[in-house]
Amino acid sequence: MNGILNKLRLEPPFYSASTGQQNWMGSGNVLKIQSPVDGNPLGEINLIGEEEYKSVMAEAKKAFPLWKALPAPQRGEIVRQFGDALRAEKEALGKLVSYEMGKSLQEGLGEVQEMIDICDFAVGLSRQLYGLQMHSERPKHRMFEQWHPLGVVGIISAFNFPVAVWAWNASIAWVCGNVCIWKPSEKTPFSALACQEIFKKVLNQNKLPEGISNLIIGDGTIGKKMAADRDISLISATGSTQMGKSVAETVGKRLGKSILELGGNNAVIVTREADLKQAVPAIVFGAVGTAGQRCTSTRRLIVHETQFEELLEKLVSAYGQLQIGDPLDEMNHMGPLIDKTAVTEYEKTIRTAIEQGGRILYGGKVLEGDTYASGCYVLPTIIEATVNMPIVAHETFAPIVYIMPYKNLEEAIDIQNSVPQGLSSAIFTLNLRDAETFLSHTGSDCGIANVNIGTSGAEIGGAFGGEKETGGGRESGSDAWKAYMRRQTCTLNYSTVLPLAQGIKFYL
Ligand code: NAD
Repeated sequence: MNGILNKLRLEPPFYSASTGQQNWMGSGNVLKIQSPVDGNPLGEINLIGEEEYKSVMAEAKKAFPLWKALPAPQRGEIVRQFGDALRAEKEALGKLVSYEMGKSLQEGLGEVQEMIDICDFAVGLSRQLYGLQMHSERPKHRMFEQWHPLGVVGIISAFNFPVAVWAWNASIAWVCGNVCIWKPSEKTPFSALACQEIFKKVLNQNKLPEGISNLIIGDGTIGKKMAADRDISLISATGSTQMGKSVAETVGKRLGKSILELGGNNAVIVTREADLKQAVPAIVFGAVGTAGQRCTSTRRLIVHETQFEELLEKLVSAYGQLQIGDPLDEMNHMGPLIDKTAVTEYEKTIRTAIEQGGRILYGGKVLEGDTYASGCYVLPTIIEATVNMPIVAHETFAPIVYIMPYKNLEEAIDIQNSVPQGLSSAIFTLNLRDAETFLSHTGSDCGIANVNIGTSGAEIGGAFGGEKETGGGRESGSDAWKAYMRRQTCTLNYSTVLPLAQGIKFYL
């Protein structure tokens, strides 16, 4: 894996604290990163300290006036070059993501492709930051709105998408004229360092200040500091609901802006008229892909009673064929969990589910042996459950899916909406009435609602995010860019008099 780091110009002492030479940054504690794939060390990094935080913020603030003064299409051109640089490094970066986080190589490459796609989207957007024009009630007046950059955007990201979530935020924030400070998950700092290096090169080639894109490696303490920092105009935070509540409270106290992308508890409804040829692979990919560590992973199956036995049989057979092991080996379907703490959570959830009346239908074990030496590999698990089991309302970041029968669609939608989270949802049906009911205002209460597509994954063209405890934020496509700018309503009087709104008379 050092080959990958070298290719990305991340050689020591840049990343290695153990050399005793100057480290990448930080006077804080040394962070030792091991790959969940084989348990081997990936490297060491010093966490950022108080002084470094101040200097990073100073660089960002210095870069902002210069960057916002560039016309948006010129900012788009820089993002276009970043997209091209990512194309050149796709293979290496995809492998690094896969090795550091443990997702399959296909998904690692897919994550980099998502970065490239959002760059393309942002380039087009740089010429489409449209404001509306309105008819004024006053003669010879023009009224319109325009959108201006915010300033410093703070991006806090989770371990499960070590690079794509940053790119979703940063590429849009940049074309909108903002500068960014990124705090990636402390579990995946090397993938972040690689991205920073790639973008830094683009900035250097264009003689632009590096302060346009800043990286800080730290844990939740630094995340809290960012949330409290008035110099950060917008915090975009992706992670657990617990983290989101803390960020929302702190940012709320200073009346700042935030985008929150938090936990999901995503369900698939399988109706009487579902095509199981479509539903089965969608469910297996949704529940098992990324070892169940996607915010959109399928966690609940709500199945019409007439389909229950057949679907279960097909799922158990499909689970039995899954290859589990090194995610860089393309023959394997599922890699490890991120670390041993996640394995402990997996075991704890299974114990709790059994205590609450659940029945294990497949899996439920931690894998052992040479192939699984890192101790982070588990069997994907299917649990028969009832809606009133409290554990079913809880997001466990592991490949565990609960299966429950239902009798009529109204009941299925009630079950689907009964959890505190509201990210992704899906229905498999060939019945038009059921599909439309699910998508209507009486249907799914989630930010994402799919028909004959699973819950997991999304295209960058749509606005991504969820309701309730998922946080309510939207990122990526559609008009999500508006959250990265401030709206200004302007009225221009080109008459010779001063009429007031609502016809108010005021004589001097
Ligand atoms: P996490 O909440 O443990 O950490 C996420 C990030 O927040 C990390 O960078 C961490 O250092 C930081 N952080 C932790 N506490 C903080 C605090 N009090 N203030 C500020 N920052 C803090 O989450 P994780 O384990 O890395 O990721 C898994 C979670 O992320 C799951 O709940 C998953 O559903 C969610 N997620 C959501 C989305 C989405 O778009 N909705 C996408 C990816 C992941």
